[in-house]
Amino acid sequence: MNLQISGLSKTYPNGVKALDNVSLTIEPGMFGLLGPNGAGKSTLMRTIATLQEPDQGTVQLGDVNVLEQKDQVRQMLGYLPQEFGVYPRTSASAMLSHLAMLKGVVSRTQRKELVGAMLQRVNLYEHRFKHLSGFSGGMKQRFGIAQALLCHPGLLIVDEPTAGLDPNERNRFYNLLADVGENTVVILSTHIVQDVKELCSRFAILSNGRVVFSGGPAEATAELEGRIWERSVSKAELPDFQSRYQVLSTKLVANKPLIHVLNDEDPGEGFVSVRPELEDVYFSMTQGQAIHAETETTAAL
Ligand code: ADP
Repeated sequence: MNLQISGLSKTYPNGVKALDNVSLTIEPGMFGLLGPNGAGKSTLMRTIATLQEPDQGTVQLGDVNVLEQKDQVRQMLGYLPQEFGVYPRTSASAMLSHLAMLKGVVSRTQRKELVGAMLQRVNLYEHRFKHLSGFSGGMKQRFGIAQALLCHPGLLIVDEPTAGLDPNERNRFYNLLADVGENTVVILSTHIVQDVKELCSRFAILSNGRVVFSGGPAEATAELEGRIWERSVSKAELPDFQSRYQVLSTKLVANKPLIHVLNDEDPGEGFVSVRPELEDVYFSMTQGQAIHAETETTAAL
Protein backbone atom coordinates (compact mmCIF):
# COMPACT_ATOMS: atom_id res chain seq x y z
CA MET A 1 0.00 0.00 0.00
CA ASN A 2 1.53 3.30 -1.14
CA LEU A 3 0.82 6.85 -0.14
CA GLN A 4 0.56 9.05 -3.20
CA ILE A 5 0.59 12.81 -2.73
CA SER A 6 -0.07 14.84 -5.87
CA GLY A 7 0.05 18.58 -6.44
CA LEU A 8 -0.77 19.55 -2.86
CA SER A 9 -0.90 23.31 -2.21
CA LYS A 10 -2.00 25.33 0.79
CA THR A 11 -1.99 29.06 1.41
CA TYR A 12 -3.09 30.21 4.87
CA PRO A 13 -5.48 33.18 5.18
CA ASN A 14 -2.53 35.38 6.22
CA GLY A 15 -0.99 34.79 2.77
CA VAL A 16 1.72 32.29 3.82
CA LYS A 17 2.13 29.63 1.15
CA ALA A 18 2.92 26.62 3.34
CA LEU A 19 2.68 23.98 0.59
CA ASP A 20 3.52 24.69 -3.02
CA ASN A 21 2.60 21.89 -5.43
CA VAL A 22 3.95 19.03 -3.29
CA SER A 23 4.05 15.60 -4.95
CA LEU A 24 5.56 12.51 -3.33
CA THR A 25 5.18 8.76 -3.57
CA ILE A 26 5.82 7.02 -0.27
CA GLU A 27 6.18 3.26 -0.01
CA PRO A 28 5.87 1.11 3.14
CA GLY A 29 8.82 1.51 5.50
CA MET A 30 10.34 4.56 7.11
CA PHE A 31 10.21 7.76 5.07
CA GLY A 32 11.89 10.93 6.34
CA LEU A 33 10.47 14.37 5.72
CA LEU A 34 13.26 16.76 6.45
CA GLY A 35 13.05 20.54 6.46
CA PRO A 36 13.82 23.60 8.56
CA ASN A 37 11.21 25.16 10.81
CA GLY A 38 8.51 26.76 8.72
CA ALA A 39 9.16 24.53 5.68
CA GLY A 40 5.59 23.20 5.72
CA LYS A 41 6.15 19.78 7.31
CA SER A 42 3.38 20.02 9.91
CA THR A 43 0.95 21.41 7.36
CA LEU A 44 1.65 18.40 5.16
CA MET A 45 1.40 15.96 8.09
CA ARG A 46 -1.88 17.45 9.30
CA THR A 47 -3.30 17.31 5.79
CA ILE A 48 -2.41 13.63 5.42
CA ALA A 49 -3.81 12.99 8.91
CA THR A 50 -7.17 14.45 7.71
CA LEU A 51 -6.98 17.35 10.18
CA GLN A 52 -6.96 20.12 7.62
CA GLU A 53 -7.84 20.72 3.98
CA PRO A 54 -5.46 21.72 1.22
CA ASP A 55 -6.45 24.27 -1.45
CA GLN A 56 -5.44 21.90 -4.21
CA GLY A 57 -4.16 18.41 -4.81
CA THR A 58 -4.94 14.83 -3.89
CA VAL A 59 -3.71 12.25 -1.38
CA GLN A 60 -4.29 8.57 -1.99
CA LEU A 61 -3.51 5.80 0.51
CA GLY A 62 -3.80 2.47 -1.29
CA ASP A 63 -7.31 2.64 -2.70
CA VAL A 64 -8.52 5.18 -0.14
CA ASN A 65 -8.94 8.81 -1.18
CA VAL A 66 -7.57 10.48 1.96
CA LEU A 67 -9.21 13.88 1.49
CA GLU A 68 -12.66 12.38 0.85
CA GLN A 69 -12.77 9.16 2.86
CA LYS A 70 -11.63 10.58 6.18
CA ASP A 71 -13.26 7.95 8.38
CA GLN A 72 -11.48 5.12 6.59
CA VAL A 73 -8.17 6.95 6.89
CA ARG A 74 -8.66 7.56 10.61
CA GLN A 75 -9.14 3.85 11.18
CA MET A 76 -5.81 3.13 9.51
CA LEU A 77 -3.92 6.04 11.00
CA GLY A 78 -1.54 6.36 13.93
CA TYR A 79 -0.50 9.95 14.59
CA LEU A 80 1.97 11.49 17.00
CA PRO A 81 1.54 15.24 16.56
CA GLN A 82 4.18 17.82 17.39
CA GLU A 83 2.19 19.11 20.33
CA PHE A 84 1.04 15.98 22.05
CA GLY A 85 -1.36 16.81 24.86
CA VAL A 86 -2.26 14.25 27.52
CA TYR A 87 -4.47 14.39 30.56
CA PRO A 88 -1.75 14.93 33.16
CA ARG A 89 -3.57 13.34 36.11
CA THR A 90 -4.25 10.11 34.30
CA SER A 91 -1.99 7.07 34.40
CA ALA A 92 -0.36 5.74 31.26
CA SER A 93 -2.40 2.59 31.51
CA ALA A 94 -5.77 4.31 32.00
CA MET A 95 -5.12 6.79 29.19
CA LEU A 96 -4.15 4.09 26.70
CA SER A 97 -7.13 2.00 27.71
CA HIS A 98 -9.39 5.00 27.11
CA LEU A 99 -7.84 5.61 23.68
CA ALA A 100 -8.18 1.92 22.80
CA MET A 101 -11.86 2.13 23.68
CA LEU A 102 -12.27 5.14 21.37
CA LYS A 103 -10.62 3.08 18.65
CA GLY A 104 -13.29 0.45 19.09
CA VAL A 105 -11.70 -2.13 21.40
CA VAL A 106 -14.79 -2.62 23.55
CA SER A 107 -13.86 -5.78 25.43
CA ARG A 108 -12.20 -5.00 28.75
CA THR A 109 -10.03 -8.09 28.69
CA GLN A 110 -8.84 -7.35 25.18
CA ARG A 111 -8.07 -3.76 26.11
CA LYS A 112 -6.08 -4.83 29.13
CA GLU A 113 -4.03 -7.23 27.03
CA LEU A 114 -3.48 -4.72 24.26
CA VAL A 115 -2.48 -1.92 26.64
CA GLY A 116 -0.14 -4.17 28.63
CA ALA A 117 1.58 -5.42 25.48
CA MET A 118 1.93 -1.93 24.09
CA LEU A 119 3.41 -0.57 27.32
CA GLN A 120 5.88 -3.45 27.39
CA ARG A 121 6.86 -2.68 23.84
CA VAL A 122 7.69 0.97 24.57
CA ASN A 123 9.34 0.05 27.85
CA LEU A 124 6.86 1.85 30.08
CA TYR A 125 5.21 -1.16 31.67
CA GLU A 126 6.77 -0.59 35.06
CA HIS A 127 5.50 3.02 34.97
CA ARG A 128 1.98 2.08 33.92
CA PHE A 129 0.29 3.44 37.06
CA LYS A 130 2.27 6.67 37.12
CA HIS A 131 0.58 9.96 36.20
CA LEU A 132 1.59 11.16 32.76
CA SER A 133 2.48 14.54 34.27
CA GLY A 134 5.45 12.86 35.99
CA PHE A 135 6.88 11.48 32.72
CA SER A 136 10.17 12.78 31.26
CA GLY A 137 10.26 14.09 27.68
CA GLY A 138 11.49 10.73 26.40
CA MET A 139 8.85 8.80 28.32
CA LYS A 140 6.13 11.09 26.97
CA GLN A 141 7.30 10.50 23.41
CA ARG A 142 7.39 6.75 23.96
CA PHE A 143 3.89 6.95 25.35
CA GLY A 144 2.98 8.99 22.25
CA ILE A 145 4.23 6.20 20.02
CA ALA A 146 2.31 3.64 22.06
CA GLN A 147 -0.97 5.49 21.47
CA ALA A 148 -0.10 5.96 17.78
CA LEU A 149 0.59 2.25 17.37
CA LEU A 150 -2.58 1.06 19.08
CA CYS A 151 -4.57 -1.09 16.70
CA HIS A 152 -1.77 -1.62 14.17
CA PRO A 153 -2.04 1.37 11.84
CA GLY A 154 -1.25 1.04 8.13
CA LEU A 155 -0.08 4.64 8.16
CA LEU A 156 1.97 6.09 11.01
CA ILE A 157 2.81 9.79 11.12
CA VAL A 158 5.27 11.16 13.65
CA ASP A 159 5.87 14.89 13.64
CA GLU A 160 9.22 16.12 15.08
CA PRO A 161 9.36 13.29 17.62
CA THR A 162 12.93 13.72 18.84
CA ALA A 163 13.07 17.49 19.32
CA GLY A 164 14.02 18.16 22.92
CA LEU A 165 15.11 14.59 23.73
CA ASP A 166 18.56 13.91 25.18
CA PRO A 167 20.84 11.54 23.21
CA ASN A 168 19.89 8.48 25.28
CA GLU A 169 16.20 9.11 24.97
CA ARG A 170 16.63 9.81 21.27
CA ASN A 171 18.35 6.45 20.78
CA ARG A 172 15.62 4.59 22.61
CA PHE A 173 13.10 6.31 20.43
CA TYR A 174 15.03 5.36 17.27
CA ASN A 175 15.05 1.71 18.33
CA LEU A 176 11.35 1.81 18.88
CA LEU A 177 10.59 3.34 15.49
CA ALA A 178 12.98 0.99 13.71
CA ASP A 179 10.86 -1.86 15.06
CA VAL A 180 7.61 -0.72 13.50
CA GLY A 181 6.50 -3.22 10.87
CA GLU A 182 7.83 -3.06 7.35
CA ASN A 183 4.30 -3.09 6.03
CA THR A 184 3.39 0.22 7.61
CA VAL A 185 3.95 3.50 5.80
CA VAL A 186 5.83 5.54 8.40
CA ILE A 187 6.41 9.26 7.84
CA LEU A 188 8.91 10.83 10.17
CA SER A 189 8.91 14.59 9.95
CA THR A 190 11.96 16.28 11.43
CA HIS A 191 14.42 19.16 11.18
CA ILE A 192 17.14 16.94 12.66
CA VAL A 193 19.31 15.38 9.96
CA GLN A 194 20.51 12.65 12.33
CA ASP A 195 16.94 11.31 12.65
CA VAL A 196 16.84 10.65 8.92
CA LYS A 197 20.40 9.29 8.85
CA GLU A 198 19.61 6.75 11.53
CA LEU A 199 16.26 5.57 10.33
CA CYS A 200 15.29 6.32 6.76
CA SER A 201 16.33 4.75 3.51
CA ARG A 202 14.16 7.20 1.57
CA PHE A 203 13.44 10.78 2.37
CA ALA A 204 12.40 14.13 0.97
CA ILE A 205 13.63 17.61 1.78
CA LEU A 206 11.04 20.34 2.04
CA SER A 207 11.99 24.01 1.86
CA ASN A 208 9.57 26.94 1.65
CA GLY A 209 6.71 24.55 0.96
CA ARG A 210 8.43 22.84 -1.97
CA VAL A 211 9.98 19.41 -2.35
CA VAL A 212 13.60 20.18 -3.23
CA PHE A 213 14.79 16.56 -3.05
CA SER A 214 13.28 13.11 -2.89
CA GLY A 215 15.24 9.86 -2.96
CA GLY A 216 17.84 7.92 -1.00
CA PRO A 217 20.96 9.11 0.84
CA ALA A 218 23.37 7.92 -1.88
CA GLU A 219 21.54 9.86 -4.59
CA ALA A 220 21.44 12.85 -2.29
CA THR A 221 25.17 12.97 -1.65
CA ALA A 222 26.28 11.93 -5.18
CA GLU A 223 25.64 15.36 -6.59
CA LEU A 224 27.95 17.01 -4.08
CA GLU A 225 30.82 14.56 -4.59
CA GLY A 226 34.12 16.48 -4.88
CA ARG A 227 32.46 19.81 -4.08
CA ILE A 228 32.56 19.87 -0.28
CA TRP A 229 35.61 21.41 1.38
CA GLU A 230 36.44 21.58 5.05
CA ARG A 231 38.76 23.65 7.18
CA SER A 232 39.05 25.03 10.64
CA VAL A 233 39.12 28.82 10.96
CA SER A 234 39.39 31.21 13.86
CA LYS A 235 36.26 32.91 15.12
CA ALA A 236 37.66 36.25 13.93
CA GLU A 237 38.22 34.90 10.39
CA LEU A 238 34.75 33.37 10.08
CA PRO A 239 32.88 36.42 8.68
CA ASP A 240 35.52 36.83 5.96
CA PHE A 241 35.16 33.17 4.89
CA GLN A 242 31.40 33.52 4.99
CA SER A 243 31.54 36.49 2.65
CA ARG A 244 33.83 34.75 0.16
CA TYR A 245 32.45 31.22 0.13
CA GLN A 246 29.13 29.42 0.26
CA VAL A 247 29.50 28.18 3.83
CA LEU A 248 27.06 25.33 4.41
CA SER A 249 27.73 24.62 8.05
CA THR A 250 29.78 25.77 10.98
CA LYS A 251 30.52 23.40 13.81
CA LEU A 252 32.47 24.32 16.89
CA VAL A 253 35.24 21.80 17.41
CA ALA A 254 37.51 22.46 20.39
CA ASN A 255 36.01 25.96 20.41
CA LYS A 256 37.14 26.65 16.84
CA PRO A 257 34.72 26.85 13.92
CA LEU A 258 35.08 23.94 11.49
CA ILE A 259 33.43 25.01 8.27
CA HIS A 260 32.09 23.14 5.26
CA VAL A 261 31.94 25.09 2.03
CA LEU A 262 30.38 24.19 -1.30
CA ASN A 263 32.78 24.98 -4.14
CA ASP A 264 33.21 23.40 -7.55
CA GLU A 265 37.03 23.72 -7.47
CA ASP A 266 39.66 23.34 -4.77
CA PRO A 267 39.62 26.68 -2.94
CA GLY A 268 43.23 26.23 -1.75
CA GLU A 269 43.87 28.16 1.47
CA GLY A 270 44.23 24.94 3.48
CA PHE A 271 40.81 23.49 2.65
CA VAL A 272 40.64 19.70 2.38
CA SER A 273 38.16 17.74 0.30
CA VAL A 274 35.68 15.70 2.35
CA ARG A 275 33.00 13.21 1.42
CA PRO A 276 29.61 14.87 1.35
CA GLU A 277 27.38 14.08 4.29
CA LEU A 278 23.62 14.30 4.52
CA GLU A 279 24.03 17.53 6.48
CA ASP A 280 25.83 19.08 3.51
CA VAL A 281 23.00 18.09 1.19
CA TYR A 282 20.43 19.42 3.63
CA PHE A 283 22.13 22.78 4.13
CA SER A 284 22.89 23.21 0.43
CA MET A 285 19.23 22.66 -0.43
CA THR A 286 17.61 24.68 2.32
CA GLN A 287 20.07 27.50 2.66
CA GLY A 288 17.45 30.09 1.87
CA GLN A 289 15.54 28.97 4.91
CA ALA A 290 17.83 26.97 7.19
CA ILE A 291 18.74 28.29 10.55
CA HIS A 292 22.44 27.74 10.38
CA ALA A 293 23.42 27.42 13.96
CA GLU A 294 21.03 24.53 14.25
CA THR A 295 23.50 21.81 13.31
CA GLU A 296 22.26 19.53 16.02
CA THR A 297 25.43 17.50 15.78
CA THR A 298 27.38 17.59 18.99
CA ALA A 299 30.85 18.31 17.79
CA ALA A 300 33.54 15.96 19.01
CA LEU A 301 35.76 18.01 21.24
P1 ADP B 1 7.09 23.18 9.80
O1 ADP B 1 6.29 22.09 10.40
O2 ADP B 1 8.01 22.71 8.73
O3 ADP B 1 7.80 24.02 10.83
P2 ADP B 1 4.54 24.49 9.28
O4 ADP B 1 3.71 23.65 8.39
O5 ADP B 1 4.25 24.50 10.74
O6 ADP B 1 6.10 24.16 9.02
O7 ADP B 1 4.46 26.01 8.78
C1 ADP B 1 4.69 26.40 7.42
C2 ADP B 1 4.43 27.88 7.30
O8 ADP B 1 3.05 28.13 7.48
C3 ADP B 1 5.16 28.73 8.34
O9 ADP B 1 5.53 29.94 7.74
C4 ADP B 1 4.09 28.93 9.40
O10 ADP B 1 4.31 30.16 10.10
C5 ADP B 1 2.82 29.01 8.56
N1 ADP B 1 1.64 28.51 9.30
C6 ADP B 1 1.49 27.29 9.86
N2 ADP B 1 0.26 27.16 10.40
C7 ADP B 1 -0.40 28.32 10.16
C8 ADP B 1 -1.70 28.82 10.45
N3 ADP B 1 -2.60 28.06 11.09
N4 ADP B 1 -2.00 30.07 10.05
C9 ADP B 1 -1.11 30.82 9.39
N5 ADP B 1 0.13 30.43 9.07
C10 ADP B 1 0.50 29.20 9.44
